Amino acid sequence: MPYQNIIDSQRQFFNTNATKDISFRIQQLKILKNAIKTNESLLYKAIYKDFKKSDYETYVTELAIIYHDIDLALIKIKKWARKKRVSTGLTNLPGRSYILPEPKGVALVIGAWNYPYQLSLSPVVAAISAGCTIVLKPSEIAANASAALAKIITQSFPPSYFKVIEGGVRNTTELLKVKFDTIFFTGSTKVGKIIYEAAAKQLTPVILELGGKSPAIVTAGVDIDMTAKRIVWAKFLNAGQTCIAPDYILVEKKMEAALLVALKKHIEKASYSIDNRNYTQIINENNLDRLITMIDQSKIYLGGKFDKENRIIEPTIMNNVSFDDLVMQEEIFGPILPVISYEKLTPVLDKIKTMDKPLSCYIFTKNKNMRQQVLREISFGGGAINDALVHFIEDNLPFGGVGSSGIGSYHGEYGFKAFSHYKSVLHKTFLFELNLKYAPYTSQKLAWIK
Ligand code: NAD
Repeated sequence: MPYQNIIDSQRQFFNTNATKDISFRIQQLKILKNAIKTNESLLYKAIYKDFKKSDYETYVTELAIIYHDIDLALIKIKKWARKKRVSTGLTNLPGRSYILPEPKGVALVIGAWNYPYQLSLSPVVAAISAGCTIVLKPSEIAANASAALAKIITQSFPPSYFKVIEGGVRNTTELLKVKFDTIFFTGSTKVGKIIYEAAAKQLTPVILELGGKSPAIVTAGVDIDMTAKRIVWAKFLNAGQTCIAPDYILVEKKMEAALLVALKKHIEKASYSIDNRNYTQIINENNLDRLITMIDQSKIYLGGKFDKENRIIEPTIMNNVSFDDLVMQEEIFGPILPVISYEKLTPVLDKIKTMDKPLSCYIFTKNKNMRQQVLREISFGGGAINDALVHFIEDNLPFGGVGSSGIGSYHGEYGFKAFSHYKSVLHKTFLFELNLKYAPYTSQKLAWIK
């Protein structure tokens, strides 16, 4: 197996116990931060080559998040890694019980292309904090970003601790034949199943951060201008190539017209257009073609034009959409926003319940009953009320999916937990012994314990 040597050397290094020292982990986090800081311009250029993402967008949605994750880990790591005392039951007294977080070991992190730095390095920050060694496989689809990551990491870390392996399906398939102690995967539900199956063969625990169709529900009585502004930002950031972007809107019929007008206003205000050099490209031709086929020309409210050569699709709003339309059959993952109107909330929620559980759900409402109904009835990974996307940056909220949208979670301490095993320990003394547990098991003993 081509990658066995790398994993063997990482396991050897892990077994030296070097990564168990908190001071070692702190040092590595600082090295990582410094490596990114000193190579910011290389990182900006690479991602611009991949899909014309502006430096601003790259900083805000990628680098700033990684810096924040590192800074948070530096502050909290000692607390997260601390032994936690818990109470001990009467039968085990005198004794002490505690939980010891320990690193899972050699971790494989597989990243997606849409935020190629953040989706690779945020899990890496968690893995370093937990004390794992790391093999990182960034997505080959953002090829320049992948190469930039490989360059920076190779310059900064020995491969026996942290190694980037570039490549596509063939390389990942080979990697998955090797036994890792944990696998952290970000990507599609389809590939998530392949990863899960490969991991099962080795009984390797996984965290799967997957996708899905995330609804934004808009009820009557909301601040429609602010609702539209927030949805437009969340949807068209990165040209809709965001796993938690609102995939489609469900709007109460009487609000539909006003919402459409407000969405149009905010798209124009943000100057998202084919001519805007700061409007992110679609990552490749395959995705461009996939998206174009989703646009039903007879249902366009706004946009719908595209520039194949530059791989750009105008922010496109479709209305009069039904759940049977092509655009509703799979995750869109691009700048197309279908709007479905409804008269009553309950049948719409019943419909969502028949679909795969979404990664996110957003509800824009001032109505407490409706808010509670959505929260009680719809299972989703995480979400927000009266906003979209922003729950992602809350360190105290676990980020992850449920059902088809994922297994496990990370961010903040949840990231540390994702790469840790919580070892439970009961510490007894030799002070005295309770003889009831020992044979012979007599009827007197049974009578006594009952
Ligand atoms: P993808 O599943 O195609 O690829 C993800 C990774 O898997 C890449 O590194 C790729 O090389 C590898 N891969 C692809 N095919 C493989 C195969 N047959 N065997 C083994 N490995 C394989 O996903 P993508 O196109 O990079 O990203 C888009 C999807 O990811 C969307 O569904 C999106 O919602 C989801 N996503 C989820 C999150 C999250 O945090 N939950 C974040 C970003 C993207």
